[in-house]
This record gives sequence, C-alpha cells and structure tokens, in this order.
Amino acid sequence: MYPQLNLEPKAKKVRPIYQGRLNNFIANGQYKAMNLPALQDVQRVSDDSTVKISVFSVPGLKRPLFKDVMADKATKFRPAVIGESFGPSWSTYWFKIDLKIPKSWKDAPRVELHFDPSDEGLIFFEDGTAAQGITGGGERIRWIVPQSFIDAKWHTIYIETSCNGMFGNAPGADNIQPPDPERYFTLKSADLVWPDLEARALYYDFTIIAEAARDLPQDSWQSYKALDIGNRIMNTFDVEDRSTIAKCRKIAAEFLGTDVDSEAVYSTKGDIDVEAMGHCHIDTAWLWPYAETRRKIARSWSNQLELFERYPELHFACSQAQQFQWLLEDYPDLFKRVKDAVLNGNFDYVGGSWVEHDTNLPGGESLVRQFLYGQRFFEGHFGSRSKTFWLPDTFGYSPQIPQLCRLAGMTGFMTQKLSWNNINNFPNSTFNWVALDGSQVICHMCPADKYDSVININDVKNSVTHHKNLDADHVGLLAFGLGDGGGGPTDDMLEKLRRCRGLADNVGGLPRVRVGKGPEDFFADLIERTKGGKDLVTWMGELYFEFHRGVYTTHAKMKLNNRQCEQLFHDLEFFATLASLYVKDYDYPKEKLNHIWKLVLLNQFHDMLPGSAIEMAYDEAYDMYKEAKLTGSDLLRKALIALGLMNDTDLGNLVAVNTLPWPRNFIGTVPTEVSAEKDGKPDVVCLSSEENVALLQPVPAEVSANMVPVTVEEIGPNKFKLANGVLEAVIDGGAITSLFDIPNNREVVAPGQKANQFVMFDDQPLYWQAWDTEVFSLDSRKELPPGKGQIILQSPLRCSVLIEQKISERSWINTAITLNAYIKPKDSSTAFDGTHLEFTSEVYWDENCKFLKVEFPVDVHAESASYEMQYGIVKRPTHYNTSWDVAKFEVCCHKFADLSEHNYGVSILNDCKYGFSTHGNVMRLSLLRAPKAPDAHADIGTHEFSYSIYPHAGPLGANTIKLAHEFNSPVVFARVESTKSIDAVLDTFVVEGTDGLCLSNIKRGEDDSDVPADYGLKSSKGKSVVLRVYDALGGRQSGKVLSKLEIAQAFKSNLLEDDEEELKVVKIGDKWGFDISVRAFEIATYKLKLA
Ligand SMILES: [Zn+2]
Repeated sequence: MYPQLNLEPKAKKVRPIYQGRLNNFIANGQYKAMNLPALQDVQRVSDDSTVKISVFSVPGLKRPLFKDVMADKATKFRPAVIGESFGPSWSTYWFKIDLKIPKSWKDAPRVELHFDPSDEGLIFFEDGTAAQGITGGGERIRWIVPQSFIDAKWHTIYIETSCNGMFGNAPGADNIQPPDPERYFTLKSADLVWPDLEARALYYDFTIIAEAARDLPQDSWQSYKALDIGNRIMNTFDVEDRSTIAKCRKIAAEFLGTDVDSEAVYSTKGDIDVEAMGHCHIDTAWLWPYAETRRKIARSWSNQLELFERYPELHFACSQAQQFQWLLEDYPDLFKRVKDAVLNGNFDYVGGSWVEHDTNLPGGESLVRQFLYGQRFFEGHFGSRSKTFWLPDTFGYSPQIPQLCRLAGMTGFMTQKLSWNNINNFPNSTFNWVALDGSQVICHMCPADKYDSVININDVKNSVTHHKNLDADHVGLLAFGLGDGGGGPTDDMLEKLRRCRGLADNVGGLPRVRVGKGPEDFFADLIERTKGGKDLVTWMGELYFEFHRGVYTTHAKMKLNNRQCEQLFHDLEFFATLASLYVKDYDYPKEKLNHIWKLVLLNQFHDMLPGSAIEMAYDEAYDMYKEAKLTGSDLLRKALIALGLMNDTDLGNLVAVNTLPWPRNFIGTVPTEVSAEKDGKPDVVCLSSEENVALLQPVPAEVSANMVPVTVEEIGPNKFKLANGVLEAVIDGGAITSLFDIPNNREVVAPGQKANQFVMFDDQPLYWQAWDTEVFSLDSRKELPPGKGQIILQSPLRCSVLIEQKISERSWINTAITLNAYIKPKDSSTAFDGTHLEFTSEVYWDENCKFLKVEFPVDVHAESASYEMQYGIVKRPTHYNTSWDVAKFEVCCHKFADLSEHNYGVSILNDCKYGFSTHGNVMRLSLLRAPKAPDAHADIGTHEFSYSIYPHAGPLGANTIKLAHEFNSPVVFARVESTKSIDAVLDTFVVEGTDGLCLSNIKRGEDDSDVPADYGLKSSKGKSVVLRVYDALGGRQSGKVLSKLEIAQAFKSNLLEDDEEELKVVKIGDKWGFDISVRAFEIATYKLKLA
C-alpha cells in the first residue's frame, strides 16, 4: 500500500557527516565510554592477587637464550611494577610473570594476557618453549592464556623483552635517523582480560563496513548501503545493554553475510580476484643488528604458528634460508614446529635464496651461491626446493635474474619495489621478464604496491584496480602482515579478510579475496591461466629502479670487502679443487668454504651491501668480512702449500700464478711479505705468461725485445708526461689534459677538457639519505682545485706520478697515476696489449652530504654506454631524450663501463666501485658519499681504490673483459723450487673457444662423496668438478672444455649442479674434452665426473 498522505518529512543523509560519525563507534576518542570500545572486556584485572611481575636485567647488551638465562647462577629476578622504564637501547630484560586466573572466570571462553612493554618481546613457557611474540605500543600485546591455566592456581611464564621498537631505536618519529643509545621503554600493562568475543567480532564487522562506506567507489550502491548499515548499527547499540551487540551483528550480517566467523566464508565457489598471502618481511639487518634479527624471527614466526591453530586458512610465505638456519640454531623447538607446519601446508618456505639479497651489487658467482645454498637448505630440511624467487624489497633488478632463477629451478618471481619509482610508472604487474640470454620468469608485482598490507578495503580493491595487465589476467597477489621489522599477519588481519570475502559474496562491489594459497600455487595457477605465460607481455632486460641510486656507492668498504671476498674465493676454490684432485691427503674444505661464502652472502642482504643500515649492523658485517678473509686466506695458503706452490721459507723462485683463464702480462709491485727487496724500495717486477693458466715467468725488462719501457718527465711546472710508445699522458695539476693513443693516432680526451677530474656534488636527497642521490645534485657540480704532483716511481717497467689534492678543509685525496711498460704481443695466442692508465687513490673523507666522483670527458660519441653487470653487459642511454632516460642519471656497473663508437672506444675499469653515469661524452665514476642517516658515520675515514682508463680500437670487445678481470684479480705470489710440475697441474681444466667465452669459476661438486655432505643430502660416488662458463659479449660462442684428468661423464648442469644434458666426451691428444656452445649471455655450468 502506498499512503496518500506523507506527514513525516525525511532528510537525505549528508554523506560526509554520516560517514564521519562512523569513526566514533570504534575509536578510542572522546566518546569511547559510550561506544564499542567500552564493551570489549567482560572483565579485566591486574593486581598482586592475579598478576605478579618480576624482572631480571641482562648485564651489558648481551642477548642470552632462555636456557642460558635460567642456568646462570647470576640470574636474579626482582619485583617490577607497571609504569617502570627499562633501557637503555638494545639491552635485554627477562620478565617473570606469575598468573592466577580468578576463580569466577572459570567459564570464560577465553582469557588473555595483555602485556605491553612498549618494545619487542617473546613469551616463553616455564619449560623454555617459545609461545608467542609481543610488539609493544599496542601493536600486538594480546596473548591467549592456555586453557589449562584457567584453574585459579598460580602459573609462571617468562617474557624476554629487547629495548628496541619494531624499527630500531631512532629518536622521535623519523625512523631512519641514527639510533639513540639512551632510549627507555615503559612497561604499560600486564592485565588479565576476559574479552567479549562478540564485541570484538562486531569491531571487525564495523571496521570493514565503515571502510566500505568510505573506500568503495563513491558512486556504488554498496558504499551507500555500507553507510546505512553502519549508522543503523550505531543506532541499535546501547552501551548499557551488552545484548545489543548481537543485534548489531545481525545488522552487519546484512552486508557481510553470516559466515564471517570462520574459514567457511571461503568455501563459496567462483573465480577469485585476489590471493591474500601471509608474509612477514624481516630485514635481516637494517635499523637493528643481525643479532636482533635472530630474535625477531622467533617472535614473528611463533605468532604464525599460534595463528595456524585458530585460522586454518592462513598461508604464511617466508623466505631467506639464513633466517631458518638461525631459528634452528637458537630455537630448535620452534624450528620443529615450523617444519610440522610446512608438512601441514600452512608454512610456505619460498625464495630459494640464502637471504633476500641485493641483485645489482653481488657478483655473478655470488648470485649463483645465493640460490645454491638457499635451495640446498630448503631441499635438505623440507624435502624440496622453492619454485618462486621472492624478493619484495630490493633496490633494482639485474637483467640476468630471470636466467639465474630458471637455472636454480624457479619459474615465478614476486616483487613490488618498482612501485617506488620516483619518475616513471612501471607499466606491468604480471608479465614475462626476460633475461639477457632470452630466459624468462613469470613476474608478479603485487598491484597493491606493498608487501606488508595490514588489510583494508583499499588494499583488496587495489589488488585488482591497480593491476596493470587486466587484459591478460586479473588476479593480484596481496602480501599481508606487518613487515620490515617483522611481525607478520595478526588475527585482526585474518578477521578483516574474512569480512572482505563475506562482503564480496554477499553484496559484491569488492574483488573476491581468498586466503589459502601459497606462492607456489599462485604461480602455478598463473602459468596455467595464461597458457604457459603466452598471454603475457614481456619486459626485456634490466628492471631499473628509479630510486635509491646512492646505494651503488654508500658504505664503500662493504663494496670493497664484497669484491675482495668474491675474488679471494674464486682463487681459493680454483687451487683447492686442484689440490683435492692431485694431492693425496688434501681434503677439499667444503664446510669452511660454505661457511665463509655464507658470511659474504649474508652481507649481500638488501640493506647491508647497499649501505642503508645502521652503524651497529656494519660493525657486525665488518667482523664477518674479517673472518671470511682470514679463513679464506688461510685455506688458500694451505691449498698452495699442498700444491707445492708455497713454503714457509723464502727459498725458491718468486713466481706469480695467474688464476685467470687466459695468457696474461703482469707488471706491478711485489707485496712486501714475499718481496726479496729488503731496503723498502718498491719491488717492481714484470711477468708474462703464454699459457692459459700457468705460472707467470719473469721477463727481465732489459733483455726483452718485446717491450717498450715507460718514461716519466716533468715537462713544466707541476706538469708531467708519462709515455710508453702506445699511450702518452699529460698530467697538469692532477688532471689529464691529453691522453694520446699513438698506434690509433687518436686523442682520447675531449678537446679542451680534463680527464681524471675530481668533482664534488651537494648530495641532499629528498629524504632517504643513505639510499638516494637525486637528479638535482648534478646541478651543484664543483671541480676540485688542481693538486701538487711529484714523480714517485720511475723504472723502465712502471712510472708513477703522485698528485696531492685537498677536497675540503677536512678531507684530502692522493692519487698515484701510473703507466706500465708496453709488452708487444708476439701473436694472437699470447697475452694481449692492455696498455691503460691506472689511478690509485688514498682518501681521507670527512664530509657532510657530499658526493665525490671522477670524470673522464672522452672524445667519443655514442647513443648508449655499456656497463658490466653479472655475466653480461647492460646498455644505458647517454642522453636525456625521455623521462625513462632521465631516470637513469646514475646506474650500477661492475668492473667496467665502456663508451664506444663503431671503431674506437674507451673503457673505465674499477676495483671496488659500482656507481657510474655516462652523459654526452663524460664518463663519471662515483667514488664516495657522506649520508648521515641511518648511519651517522657512513664512509667517514680513510679509503683506497683504483680505477683505470683503457682506450681501445674497435667497439667494446674481449680485451676490455679480460683487462677488467685482470684489474680485479691480483696475481698470486708464491715461491717454488721448480715450476715444472706445478705448471702441469694449473691448466688441468681449460676452456678454449671464441672471443667472449669466459670461464668464470671452478669448484668441486657439492654432492661428491669425498666432500662433507650438508643437510643430509644424498651424495654421489666419485669426484666431480663444476665449471661455470658464460658469454661475456653477447654473441653465440662455441668452444671446448678440456681436462687433463680423465672425464668419465660430463653434463651440462644447472646452478644446483643437477645432471641435465649428458655431453659426449672424447679423447683429444692427451686430454679429455667435449664441445660446448653457449647462447649470447648464457650462463653455462658443466659438471665433469672424473674417472
Ligand atoms: Zn627490506
């Protein structure tokens, strides 16, 4: 019936007002006492008759484990009270909490302890098993008391707290400021609570309804309905009458459906739009040291183990084998529970790498080892490898990652960091990412642009609406759980997710979200839906990150140590492999090798090697490098002794061993430890090798007809000339005003310009100091004033001019500019001519937000420059045509950058630097930065580094590759009685072939029966050798692998050393070998099983 009269006028709801009202229902604001927060507890107690608190303060800044604290006689608990403060920063307290649940609570369906220490904590049962993590400040302070405690008797638990917040100890709200060593944390609560679970459920209902009103499309009827439902709930609620809660929930069900109180909500059929996956990003060190991360893991993961029981739908994806390893060492009981959860299918180990590493800075073999050791850990402990590389938070992506992933058994790649680009919007979410060699992985970048969603309507919605490839696939992955500092999913998030799904099924208007799939299933489904990826667009090459460009340079000593360790391990594995094959009682030191590799891999974590962590974390890192180098050098010495290449006396001939796989000349200074020169003068020697891998034989300069000696002269006031018949360099005040290439009749320095010109830039990025250098920094370019020069070395083999320059009142730089004699190649089989001008700088650096670079304006014109990355070359523009080109104003390179025309070019080599730019004709190597956050002392102090300019005929070619390796690979000096037998051993394994074919590393097989097995993985009989070979220039290469030892079987293998394709071995003269063919930029691994 429709009444004829209407005497009750009705107003249209004024949206912002009715919307604003909703906030008051759940907020802890001025109306708290009249609204839902007032009814959250049925009862709450905290007095001596129910909760007794005592505390033990751990002396110093130690972090003892439960068992050590309890066993220590010095452990004494004293009474503590609410309101008391604990500190200073990084110290540890153990609370002993005695609980007695009131008798009257015997029928309570649940009792909780609400413990808020303001900092982080971990709850232990009396027997030492870890129960659950705590994050103070209200974030995660509830712990469900076991049912067995509800007996009105006293029970004891322990809570370890650490005096740091989730994000370390920055003073004030700016997290990236250096930590305050004097922070104190107040114990805010230790309450026993009988919660009203219906009131809590209404809180979740209402939160999602209020968000739906606000964040669903404002022209959707669902948003109006949410507004109406929310207001009706508020009208129905009566704080004096607890029974109204049930009525309110009934109204909520009109919007959310009736299944939101259990995982049953996910049982409805139909297509899914959003796969929500629990995740907990724990930075392995960042605003806290590694030592704290070990505890963060236990806190975060124990929380998930508890949640699995209440929320069977939860899937928790966790990466970084190192973190599992630490859990195993410190909390074996938790590790066992994790293992059970893996078997149950809730806990998804993922990533396949040792840590979530940076992908720009580690060398090629380092990336291989990240996957090798990561996958071996997972396979050993959990029975299978990960198929998904999981790297949500890293600062740019090397173009070889897709190839490395495929070679490590991974087909999927999850990340999202490009959403932080500060210039261009990356155009894809789901796509085939293609490596330099053509290998692809399916890449998914979470469309919600985060890896740590706390779950809200917007994140669920954006997982579809921000998906950039909806034409091909519409499913978005939503990684949820408190992150960076750890934490992971909470019950709040899981409750909200259930309501998001209920909403979608009941009224629609929101993508359908599911919780209940792991990363492997997500990618497997994606591959199937997109017909094996065929429906997806491709992105070829580097995923350049348009942000955090300072991390190629910050913390120069991390970069130096990393490069040095990679080089040391290369040589160590080379000699140890040979010793293990030829020397009877020599054992391949696999355990120690793996240990030191893992120290280096750990420090490749995405906030460590890039330089964006706090000083305390770097103190730990530098200790690890020290250990890695000491152990590595000791193992190297033992391998050399075993091979007869070293003795403890200084008898025998001084020789230098070349571990690079090509003939090599070496002119340089003998280290004082092995030098026969006792008068302190530099002992310059010249050595030349004609074998691929052989002892370098001394070539006395004065008798060598193939050599043009080098000369140096002062040709004017503070003006010098170095010349060797190939290059002629004029140095004026420290800068190179002319570098003439005689055989090519070409001036290298651009007319009127100066090479080796040091330049300083203001370096105050918008916010992220250690991370960023900004494009406007380039506008502040200032040249260092000229320095004073003097000749410091003058021999026919090697001449140096030293330039002393002031950087500022506090900083200086001394640079030795060196040219060697020229050794003419006899023919194409001998060492090539690599005449280049070297620069070795010593710096004292004490600056504030400045950036030091060195420039080489060269007379070369090209549209793009080439930069060495892992196992390949990346080209980047030398112009600013588009915003994508502008974004690459600072890029990453490894051992060289090259600017070449068709018939001539210039390479700049370096021994420990990673930042570079080439614009117009100026090649600019980045040297040192001085950010003040999060490490106030980053890079302050002394530094030493070398770089070099190598002009060459023709485009970028094999000579630059070789020279860059030589520049980074010092020859190994040794003393031997006779070189003959050694000579025969050193070239046991040889790769012969076309120009860009490069043998990068030699090692023993991981699973050989004569080396220790790890993780109980199956070993195979006999001895095998693994050779890593790649094409360095970007063209198909063919050649042969030759071995002096008999090969029983040879396989083309993957990074994980699985036998894949068997290769036909033939006897060639007195060697065994097989043919190889390598695609452009392919990384090929060969496994030789020896007879
Ligand atoms: Zn991170």
